[in-house]
Amino acid sequence: MYHFAMTSAPALTSYLLDNWTTGEGPTEPLRDASTGEVIATLAVDGVDYGAAVAHARTVGVDELTALTFHDRATVLRNIGKLLLSDEVKGDLYALSSATGATKGDSWIDVDGGAGALMALASKARKELPNAKVAIDGPPEMLSRDGSFIGVHIMTPRRGIEVQINAFNFPIWGMLEKFGSAFLAGVPTIVKPAPQTAYLAHAAAAVIVDSGLVPPGSLQLACAAPGDLLDHLDGQDSVAFTGSAATAVHLRRHPVLTERSVHFNAELDSLNAAILAPSAGPDTAEFDLFVAEVAKEVTTKAGQKCTAIRRAIVPEALVGPVTEALEAKLADVVTGDPRSPEVTMGALVSTEQRDAVLAAIETLKGAADVVISGGDLVADNPGAGAFVTPTVLRASDTGAAVLHEVEAFGPVTTVMGYGDQADAVQLVARGSGSLVASVFGGDADENAALTLGIAAHHGRVLVVDASVGKTSTGHGSPLPQLLHGGPGRAGGGRELGGIRSVRQHLQTTAIQGSPAALTRITGEQMPGGPTSQDKGHPFRLHYDELAVGDSYTSDTRTVTLADIEAFAESTGDTFYAHTDEEAAKRSPIFGGIVAHGYLVLSFAAGLFVSPEEGPVLANYGIDRLRFATPTRPGDEIHVILTCKRKTRMAGRGYGEVAWDTQVINQDGEVAAAYDVLTMVADLPGVNGAPE
Ligand code: NAP
Repeated sequence: MYHFAMTSAPALTSYLLDNWTTGEGPTEPLRDASTGEVIATLAVDGVDYGAAVAHARTVGVDELTALTFHDRATVLRNIGKLLLSDEVKGDLYALSSATGATKGDSWIDVDGGAGALMALASKARKELPNAKVAIDGPPEMLSRDGSFIGVHIMTPRRGIEVQINAFNFPIWGMLEKFGSAFLAGVPTIVKPAPQTAYLAHAAAAVIVDSGLVPPGSLQLACAAPGDLLDHLDGQDSVAFTGSAATAVHLRRHPVLTERSVHFNAELDSLNAAILAPSAGPDTAEFDLFVAEVAKEVTTKAGQKCTAIRRAIVPEALVGPVTEALEAKLADVVTGDPRSPEVTMGALVSTEQRDAVLAAIETLKGAADVVISGGDLVADNPGAGAFVTPTVLRASDTGAAVLHEVEAFGPVTTVMGYGDQADAVQLVARGSGSLVASVFGGDADENAALTLGIAAHHGRVLVVDASVGKTSTGHGSPLPQLLHGGPGRAGGGRELGGIRSVRQHLQTTAIQGSPAALTRITGEQMPGGPTSQDKGHPFRLHYDELAVGDSYTSDTRTVTLADIEAFAESTGDTFYAHTDEEAAKRSPIFGGIVAHGYLVLSFAAGLFVSPEEGPVLANYGIDRLRFATPTRPGDEIHVILTCKRKTRMAGRGYGEVAWDTQVINQDGEVAAAYDVLTMVADLPGVNGAPE
């Protein structure tokens, strides 16, 4: 277990080539944000990035690509659980307070990071196959006779992910990126921001020392970036989080311009919250708006890429909003987060404090101070990086500084708008942001505002009274939803469930015969080889069953009496099944037809193998289409083919999808769908009872 030496100032090690190594060269002191005490030192050199990249590309890639998506999801879930265990969490929270974080701030970083891994793992087990290759979309018929088809597959890039992170969420920032790369099968090298590298180091140490991650899959470089990027090529990616200025510099790097290294940027942005025109001071939405802006000012002392920098409110409500904010923020106690009375912690460093104070001075060129920041600076010369909550009121909403200068601290500017179009225009002046929120009780206003600003944002939160208690908030990126915005926000995309994993997978169009593509994808393609040699496939256990195992049923004639009885018993007396004259007038049916669900029910009666056996349950149907109407007198049969198998680790069964075709006497497809079943493993296998 990793121990945090809070009493001395350890030199941070790096985890490279599956070993902890000590840095070299000049060292940089890393200070407690509140006390100024040196808590660790960071050596600038000593990392052989060429060797680290080569190790990830060989050992890491081999180890990770030997696992399936589900195997890797299981590792992520276990890491999440470990980080949330009381012992580990307590240690991380203690160290996190040195960054200036309150308990609430640490919850976002530690629990949020672990939660992101677990949410991703859970989605992967539901939405990705338990395989090494995933299929993107249905096959395409490329020849009339079906002998030549195409399909898109997704396989992990044979490269690495380099993370270059910002200082504000050293654990969450590392884990949310690591999770998607790891799940895809891509190893990671993390370069944490220096200011809070000791916290990323602590979390990484917990993970690698646990033995949960395979060799080469995670490396940590606590040092200057040096020549790291020089070693990358077109199979690699860089995920950068930080300032727009650094991104501009990195984007010019020759590996990006000449070798097409993938680059994802999450940058600063001037996120806005809009109070809708009709959300006056007597509405619940007004109160929710004020509470949210205040929360975003104080959480993490405003050092959140998603914080509300611009509070955009109807002209007439600028006064009431600023007054309400002043009242709300009056109780905030700024200071060392280890003191019980403190509700807002320090900025990460005195350099950051000075940068924020300088940004406030710039903003004051176009705004008046409502509540002043910096009060504590005079009382804490040099040591604590404190800035108290600062609210500005725009005197000139058109001034460029208000839409361009990010004060990365507890600062927001209230600005008035005329009409809705004006509000949308003001928001757009931010040139692209991570997130915006709309607060109002009128659904039409909210819709117009949301659609007006959507193109400039990666995420929009809409708040009316009904979500007052359940909303996850403006500033919280969620693992299920996209994080990243256009334009100034960097044009990046992270999170968003399996979307984040797909960024690390190469999509390749494969063309060939159904047999070739079935073998490559592991999934039955239309026209792929089938076998009826093993008898009814419903009698086979999971491991005995192969993709392509098939069954052709007997036939059954559908009679008018069947249709009438079905209408009678179900109550579905839709005219096409019961009224010959009306059905004849229908441009679709031209006469009585059987209910689609009657066809499905008869089909089940035709293909089912009724005795107790390995098929445990039918849990659903996918892709159902009724292709040709079934008429009284039609004779149908079913061809059922094992299409896809998904082993469910340790559960004693696997999921099996069956391609199901209901065919009439003319060879036409009456219905086509995938029947989804759970099929038992052989006794004693994969947790199945003996
Ligand atoms: P920064 O100065 O751009 O640094 C970010 C990272 O880039 C650090 O790890 C830094 O490490 C590294 N870096 C700087 N120059 C580099 C170079 N030439 N080559 C390789 N790496 C280099 O940003 P920051 O001030 O730490 O972070 C605050 C900013 O990040 C804010 O503007 C905030 O809005 C933004 N942010 C955005 C998001 C998001 O998700 N969109 C999240 C958090 C923060 P070294 O110092 O060691 O070089």
